[in-house]
Amino acid sequence: MTTVEFTCPGCRQTIEVNDEMRATILEVGCPVCTTAVDEDAFESA
Ligand SMILES: [Zn+2]
Repeated sequence: MTTVEFTCPGCRQTIEVNDEMRATILEVGCPVCTTAVDEDAFESA
């Protein structure tokens, strides 16, 4: 289980996420503003 940093391209919110949360965000979008995101929004913390 790795932790990566998610930065939303829509609302600029930064959130630390694990693999499970990352998969969910890729599927449903940003948890804050629901903007669709791709792999580019994640980087290793
Ligand atoms: Zn957002």
